[in-house]
Amino acid sequence: MTWEVVIGLETHVQLSTKTKLFSRASTSFGADPNTNVNLVDCGLPGVLPTVNKEAFYKAIRFGLAINATINQTSHFDRKNYFYPDLPKGYQITQMDRPIVEGGQVEIELEGVHKVINVTRAHLEEDAGKSIHDADPTNSLIDLNRAGTPLLEIVSEPEISSAKEAVAYMKALHQLITFLDVSDGNMSQGSMRCDANVSIRKKGDKELGTRTEIKNINSFRFIEKAINFEIKRQIKVLEGGEKVIQETRLYDANKDETRPMRTKEFANDYRYFPEPDLLPVVINDDEIAEIKNNFPELPNEKKLRYLNELKLSVNDADILSSTKSLSTVFEKLIENGSDSSLAAKWLVGDISALLNKDQVELENSKLTTELIGELLNNISDNTISGKIAKEVLEECYATGESPNSIIESKGLKQITDAAELESMLKKIVDDNPEQVTQFQAGKDKLFGYFVGQAMKETKGKGNPEIINKILRELLAK
Ligand code: ADP
Ligand code: MG
Repeated sequence: MTWEVVIGLETHVQLSTKTKLFSRASTSFGADPNTNVNLVDCGLPGVLPTVNKEAFYKAIRFGLAINATINQTSHFDRKNYFYPDLPKGYQITQMDRPIVEGGQVEIELEGVHKVINVTRAHLEEDAGKSIHDADPTNSLIDLNRAGTPLLEIVSEPEISSAKEAVAYMKALHQLITFLDVSDGNMSQGSMRCDANVSIRKKGDKELGTRTEIKNINSFRFIEKAINFEIKRQIKVLEGGEKVIQETRLYDANKDETRPMRTKEFANDYRYFPEPDLLPVVINDDEIAEIKNNFPELPNEKKLRYLNELKLSVNDADILSSTKSLSTVFEKLIENGSDSSLAAKWLVGDISALLNKDQVELENSKLTTELIGELLNNISDNTISGKIAKEVLEECYATGESPNSIIESKGLKQITDAAELESMLKKIVDDNPEQVTQFQAGKDKLFGYFVGQAMKETKGKGNPEIINKILRELLAK
């Protein structure tokens, strides 16, 4: 029997605002527990929330980028449930009048383009965090996250495989980071998704019963969790049983999903309009202002890199594909680095190092300043490209500055022509056999002499000067 997979994703994106959605507490990551909290976030009686407009502007920017309808009048609702990390006993969210409705996200998978429709994107506050492993007898609560602004982006059930789900998440990630709506840092929880998965017989009109895998926070886990869930559901149905609509948790260590709780339905939450907040009205001028300040998106960047900076298609493609690479690339140029040299190193050796360890540039020890220093040393001939690789690796591993690595290891390039010439003369004299063969037409042997020279200088001889002198010495 052939099965068809249906997936809809609910993605939570943490908006990069300085303060929370309804209070003036900071949203900075990594603060000591319960220090980014004020009376509103604690849900103390008698305090009132106020709306953070910046969160609305970011949500609208996202909406405009996916060609959605912006509801210029939207309002908040209360979603009631009890949980220790939710001090008010309800979450303020948007139920029937979200800020963003509709819209499309284009994905690409192995060269094939597909459009995934977005149902809605609404603003809501995050909850706090329960910590169960810090104290042997108590669970602890950290309210730093409580009230952090989230944009929940809900897709239509139009995604047909785990790979498509990953492509969709990557497309969203690219959008939110280039739009400067979120830092997109998945390991810090700035982007995470709930995957709704169901299967049905090919050709069936009705959707199958779905399960919802909660809070997945990496591209790799999305793919694994969904694939596990698809296999599990097929087994259940082929065994003559029914899929139970429930919420499940993905356990990365065991690579499996496990039931968390049976699915709650909207009426369990007793939604009602939030009485402490007025509807939020965004006027035409504000929309115009957001449109006028739209950041450059990957496609436009790519064209600019091609046309103005004359990068190759491959380099332009890679450098415009992630916010972190394009930001560093542009800063390097701004600080005076040559654009093609910067592109070559970012796309080549630097990307290779990052890929090897699967880390993002912004999470590595390589800062824009360090990379700039490395490039300067290459362009002013202080070090050769070969030595630069060595310096880069050291800098990547330790965070030490290229200048000090070059200094302490004595890696400066030898450019003194007289010094190089006397060394090369000796190499030529010591290898009469090779000289005869080279002069008899065995061109490949030129590389042998260069190799000897590099060995002699420990890679520090300037290759252009060495080549030039060698040509002269070896000429008949
Ligand atoms: P809830 O808010 O209760 O989770 P929604 O109806 O808002 O439910 O749907 C949430 C997500 O589930 C959406 O992304 C939607 O596309 C997806 N979804 C709904 N039904 C199915 C289904 N049968 N199979 C897969 N995904 C589904
Ligand atoms: Mg849901």
